[in-house]
Amino acid sequence: MKQKQPYFLLFKKARWRLASWYVAVISIVLGILVIGVYEAIIHAHQMTAEKELKTVAGTLHDSLEPILNTPGKLEKNIMQFFPNVCPVNSPCLSQNNIYNYRLGAIEKGQYYLYFFDMSGNLIALSKQNIKGLDIKKHQKQQEILKDNQGIRYLQISYMLHNKKGQDWGYIQVVRSLEDFDNYLNIVALILLLGLPLAIILIGLSALILTGLAMKPVYQSYCQIQQFTADAAHELRTPLAAILATIESTLMLANVTEQEAKETLQSLKRQTQRLSALVADLLMLSRLDWQLTSNSLNTIKYEKICLNYLINDVLEELAYLAISLQISLEAEIKVNHQIEIIGDTEKIYRLLFNLVVNGIQYTPTGGEVKIILEQKNKLAIIKVQDTGIGINSQELTHIFERFYRIDKGRSRKDGGSGLGLSIVQAIVQAHHGTIEVRSEVNKGSIFIMQLPINL
Ligand code: ADP
Repeated sequence: MKQKQPYFLLFKKARWRLASWYVAVISIVLGILVIGVYEAIIHAHQMTAEKELKTVAGTLHDSLEPILNTPGKLEKNIMQFFPNVCPVNSPCLSQNNIYNYRLGAIEKGQYYLYFFDMSGNLIALSKQNIKGLDIKKHQKQQEILKDNQGIRYLQISYMLHNKKGQDWGYIQVVRSLEDFDNYLNIVALILLLGLPLAIILIGLSALILTGLAMKPVYQSYCQIQQFTADAAHELRTPLAAILATIESTLMLANVTEQEAKETLQSLKRQTQRLSALVADLLMLSRLDWQLTSNSLNTIKYEKICLNYLINDVLEELAYLAISLQISLEAEIKVNHQIEIIGDTEKIYRLLFNLVVNGIQYTPTGGEVKIILEQKNKLAIIKVQDTGIGINSQELTHIFERFYRIDKGRSRKDGGSGLGLSIVQAIVQAHHGTIEVRSEVNKGSIFIMQLPINL
């Protein structure tokens, strides 16, 4: 358990790094998006304010021009239209004057009117004047102004002509942008508070998601580490035996021909065990490669007649079964031959491993049976024994690499704990499934389903 710690920290670090990068990228994108949205809102509001002001100023301009007389002079009849506009240095007209609905907006106090003569001298101005704003004829037709409190205003100036077409002066309409700015401040506040909140939520979800994504990687990394450690351990045992045999022979002063033969026989057995283990490991890694890369190179695809293959396995293992006094037979439940597409050598190995296990883990007088049947497009092969069985806790582990229930017994019988892993890998490479049912002291049954047409 302690060995897992460095990998765990490594993956934890990687997970944090991944989540941080994810948050950083999303934050930048979100930040750009928020700025863009805010700019778009500002622009939309500015456009609305400009449009509104132009409409008001344009209406006033068009209404005034046909009634203006003397240039630079606002006669009484004209002033009646603007009850809230007072001439410079003269009293304002009484409030009871005629009310013009077109000027309603000006009455609401959002708009301010200024009249200038052609020389830029102020002639008349709104009663509710803007304090802190420099009143003068602005050069530009349209611009944004700021009073000394920082409140923004939009102004538009139009030149006026009298009814004879002579230059009369200017009308300057100013609109306060305070309401827009207040609204924009609230929007900015919402975005500024919302952005960190969104980033925190993204951070938390990034941590959860990277955790979920890393979990299988972490698990397979641990499995690979475990596999490497187990493989090294398994290889070390025969190598140590070989070394011990050689050393003990070297220590003998004289080696007789008989002793030399015995030593070589022992070395042969250990080497065979070693090479069988290496061959198993190689097969497993190739089958893994086949599964992950989906390449068809490791598996041959040929027609396999399962009826014949089962007979071959029975023939090969008949001697072992007889020597252990175990009945070995096949039960073919179909009256035709079942053919699948796959790798003959591998399917043979699969059956061989299961039957050998059946024989090895069945006491004398027991029975091992291979059953062949067909269900729709599936070939079903069952390997059943009346052996020692496997308890339910062990059942979940028996397909793990190097897993052995009774290590002493297994090793004595030459088992490395790779047999069932190879069986499972071969089944998966043939797009099949395998399941096992077992009862302690009653026996086990391994059931495989292999598709007839791959
Ligand atoms: P081994 O090379 O040790 O047989 P396997 O991968 O073939 O390795 O099997 C893993 C373990 O599952 C064995 O150690 C054995 O304890 C158990 N096992 C496999 N087949 C049977 C069976 N038919 N009956 C009882 N136990 C079995």
